[in-house]
Formats: sequence, structure tokens, C-alpha cells
Amino acid sequence: MFNKVLIANRGEIALRILRACKELGIPTVAVHSTADERAMHVRLADESVCIGPPASKDSYLNMHEILAACEITGADAIHPGYGFLSENAKFADVLKEHNITFIGPSGDHIRTMGDKIEAKRTVKALGIPVVPGSDGEVTDDKEAMRIAAEIGYPVIIKAASGGGGRGMKVANSEEDISEALHTCRTEAGAAFGDSAVYIEKYLSTPRHIEVQVMGDGKGGAIHLGERDCSLQRRHQKVLEEASSPALNDEQRDKIGEICSKAIAGLGYSGAGTIEFLYENGEFYFIEMNTRLQVEHPVTEMITRIDLVNEQLHIAAGEGLSVTQKDVIFRGHAIECRINAEHHQTFIPSPGRIEYYHPPGGLGVRVDSGVYQGYTIPPYYDSLIGKLIVTGRTRDECLMRLRRALDEFVVDGINTTIPLFQDLVTNPDVLSGDYNIHWLEKYLAGKEA
Ligand code: ADP
Repeated sequence: MFNKVLIANRGEIALRILRACKELGIPTVAVHSTADERAMHVRLADESVCIGPPASKDSYLNMHEILAACEITGADAIHPGYGFLSENAKFADVLKEHNITFIGPSGDHIRTMGDKIEAKRTVKALGIPVVPGSDGEVTDDKEAMRIAAEIGYPVIIKAASGGGGRGMKVANSEEDISEALHTCRTEAGAAFGDSAVYIEKYLSTPRHIEVQVMGDGKGGAIHLGERDCSLQRRHQKVLEEASSPALNDEQRDKIGEICSKAIAGLGYSGAGTIEFLYENGEFYFIEMNTRLQVEHPVTEMITRIDLVNEQLHIAAGEGLSVTQKDVIFRGHAIECRINAEHHQTFIPSPGRIEYYHPPGGLGVRVDSGVYQGYTIPPYYDSLIGKLIVTGRTRDECLMRLRRALDEFVVDGINTTIPLFQDLVTNPDVLSGDYNIHWLEKYLAGKEA
């Protein structure tokens, strides 16, 4: 196992990683910007190093400073968390050159999956079902129209290097194609430094269902079931659950097996998520994330497997501690992403938390880095914590979630807690009858 792990992240995920290291007896190093001096992960780590000013590009994205922090502290491995450098292939390569272990897959696997066109090609060849669409990049109107006519309207034009729900345009008919194609290419070039775009069939009422996988890097792999992340706002997940209310055991085993076989075939190392849209009983691959996800706790709660602990074992060359038959799904789990934002306008609300009381009791987990008296800096994303609730059944889970949300007190700033209090009494949410557009429509209805 490692001598010392440096955590190249902040907030709740830095703390989450720290906890797994602590349980394994591995000393930790926190790195932080000047804005995060008083953050909980800095307080709880064995050592900490300030790596720069508040702006992410000067601190949490600054590879040189992070490498220097490794050298100063003697850390022999880095956990990147999610976001920041977690899907940066160059970072993984640079660490390898410096004999520091990147707790994640190889630079090459990150690179392949980071290019959505390449990712689609790769997984298709490994037997994973994909959304019908162009085989590769599309550059001219005529070609785009030909492909769109073939797969049928509406279609969606997507940036090969897109992420965070950005770089997508829907075309409802041939008249829309030219403008959608050109806007998407221009925007992709400006936002991601890569103007390559591709076309897929636009699915009108899909659910977002993703499969958690883990590979040992030696050709072994398992799946840990799925998460349903259909409740989204601006293509960003808001509430996630495991298992999906839309799948039965047979469907779960089938798609899980397809995914773990593909991951084994790739020789993939570490945690990954294969994301699908699911419509009329069919799965359609959209992308693979080569890192730990924000919503990983719902999988942990129904499998009782610590994903970060497994990541550490795999990265240390010890392989997985569990086999597929050890993965037994029990009960139901739901996660609410608590953001420091107004629950109706979604305007960010940084500032001082005057009073803080997280919920507790049976089946309640709060992953957060905040505390009473803590001031949320305005420089980073607004996720301040995650409330994860479990129950023996989905109904029990929802009952407990209502109780836990009512108990959660965060005074001094706005949070999205009231949004979730509304959602957990809504008949569609209670019955699990929603698709990826449901939340947007619901919010638009509230405005009207
Ligand atoms: P990102 O990397 O930006 O998250 P994804 O490819 O994962 O991009 O897509 C994000 C979201 O966009 C999906 O969860 C879904 O809501 C929507 N989306 C993407 N592709 C399609 C499609 N072919 N049809 C309908 N919606 C789509």
C-alpha cells in the first residue's frame, strides 16, 4: 500500500477520500488554495500544503504546484477526486514519469474516453450498445443532413470534447441542421479548444442510467449495478438513486455483464462509469467517465462496498478485494446534491454558515466538508454536501429522506434543500415515473 496519499481536490470529495485513507492507515496530504485555508479537509489531513491563489487554474489545476507538494511531503500517490485534474490524461502521464501513482486509469484510457467520438467507437467494438448516429466527426451540412435523414429527426449535435452538459444542440428538422452544426462547432472550439462534433439520434423521453464498473488493470473487472440520474437541470444531475426504479434484476444483470466484459477487455484499471440513455427497454451509451462520480455513495449504500478503498487497492497493484459474486444489492438509496444556491432561482449563495445541523439516525449519511462558522468561498462550484439516505425499499427510503430533509438546518446561506422537500412529495417522483426532461418541466411549471 502507499506510504502517503496526496488528495488533489477540495470540499466533500477531499474529505471522502481522506476517510478511506484513514481507515487503511495511510497518512494524507491536503493541498489547498489560499481561499480554502479553513476547509475541513485541510484541518483533518495529516499534512497540508498551500498550492496557490483562489482561481482553480492557479491552484487545484496547477500540476507543477501539486507535483512540488508531492516532493515536499514525500507522497507516493495522488487521488484526484472528480472534476479538476481527474480526467486529465497529461496529468496521469506526468505522474507516471515522476514515479507517483495516479489513483485512476492510465493516461491512454482517459484520453480515449475523453474524446466522445473515440469513446463511442471503442465501446461499440467491445459490444456496448450506442446511440445511432455518425461514425465520427461531421464537418459539412450535406453530410450532416444525410446522416440525420438516415437516423430520423430530431437529432442532437454534440462536441467530441464536451462536458458538464455543455456543447450540445438539437435539430428538429433539416432547416435546423446548418445553424446547429455551425453554432455547436464554434462553441465547442471556444469552450473546449476542439471544434469536432458528431451527430446522434435525439431520444425524446429517456432516463439516464449509468453502470458503475471497476477494473483491476489486469483484465479482471466487475460491475456494481446502476444508478438512475434522470432528475437533471441543465443536463446536470440533481438527485440520484440506486437501483433504478425502471429496471428489473434480469435487465440489471444483463447490462452489468456487458459493461464488465467491456472493461475487462479494455484492461481498464480503477473506477469508471458507463453512462446510458434508456428508452423503451433499450440502452444507448452516451459516454464513459474515467473517475469516481459525485453520486458514487448510492452504489456504496446498496452494495456496502467502499469504492475509494477499492480504488486505493487497485492503484497499489493489489487488485480488487471483491469478485462479482460478492456484489449483492440490498435495499434502496437516494442522494440529494445540496448546493449553496437559491432553490428557485439557482443563484449561487456563498457566505458564512451561521448555524449547521446535519440530519442523522438510521440510514442517513451526509458527505460534506462544511461546518458551523465556515464561510463558503465564491470561487468554486456550489455543491456543499450530499445527503444520502437508505431504506429496505424505495418507499422506506423516501419516507426517511423526507424526515432527513426536514431535520437538515443550514442557516446564513441559501441551499437547494427546499427543492428536495418539494420533490419528495411529488407523485411522479414517488412513483419513479420520470425521464431526463421531467425536472426542467417541473421547474418551468413552478415559475409560471
Ligand atoms: P456531458 O459530458 O456534458 O455530461 P453527456 O453526453 O453525458 O454530456 O450528456 C449529458 C446529458 O445530455 C444527458 O444526460 C442527457 O440529458 C442529454 N443528452 C445527451 N445525448 C443525448 C441524446 N442523444 N438524446 C437526448 N438527450 C441527450
